[in-house]
Amino acid sequence: MFDAHCHLSVDRMVPSAEDALAKARAAGVRGFLLAGIDPDDWNRQWELATSQPDVYPCFGVHPQRVGEIDFDHTRAMVEQLANRLTGPVHLRPRAVGELGLDRAMCDSDSLPRQTWAFREQLALARAADLPIVLHILRAQDAALSILEADGIPKAGGLVHSFSGSADLVKRYVKAGLMLSFAGPVTYTNARRAVDACRAVPLDYLLVETDSPDQTPEPHRPGPNQPAYLPAIIEAVAQARGQAPSAIAEATENNARRLLRLGL
Ligand SMILES: [Zn+2]
Repeated sequence: MFDAHCHLSVDRMVPSAEDALAKARAAGVRGFLLAGIDPDDWNRQWELATSQPDVYPCFGVHPQRVGEIDFDHTRAMVEQLANRLTGPVHLRPRAVGELGLDRAMCDSDSLPRQTWAFREQLALARAADLPIVLHILRAQDAALSILEADGIPKAGGLVHSFSGSADLVKRYVKAGLMLSFAGPVTYTNARRAVDACRAVPLDYLLVETDSPDQTPEPHRPGPNQPAYLPAIIEAVAQARGQAPSAIAEATENNARRLLRLGL
């Protein structure tokens, strides 16, 4: 199993990142792709990944972070990202993100700023040829238009916690992106997530916890952790009418292929 999206370097992580990793490994999770928020977060990620060889850093300026800061701060953070991506190879992250658009949690005033940061980071990822980790909330059409017009890196990427319809799956796959499913697919009213998850070709399917958020059933309420990944795999397997072991294997292979980790 491979957790394609988790935040282990945040203060809200309970138990500690190290304890959470130990529990997840005991449950059979063998790889963890982190997700970036801002430069402070990248530094914490780096610290964690240095001592944990199955944890992979991912640097980006999160759309919700862009929603909280002004344009000058946004530009300064994107410049820092450019420096990290063109610096020494051994200090570069494994992927670029989170980048994208968020119209659910952010003021509409921030949309021009979000769009600017999205396109800049997309260009940086293409130049560095690193896979992208997309955060897209209630902005699927706008985000797809940008991805189709500007182009994605040759290395591909993933849409984290995919919340779009089954129809949109085809457009993302055609653009060369994998779709990752999180806790909501385990909720009893999850029709849309279940339909979308059925529409994804097996080679483009990923699973994630998004720890410490989006806790899956039956572990709600309470913070999420990567050891809960089997609950998400169960729900995806049930939605698709496949064995959990087949989903676990395919999604791990997909994550390793995306991150060029070897099998
Ligand atoms: Zn995230």
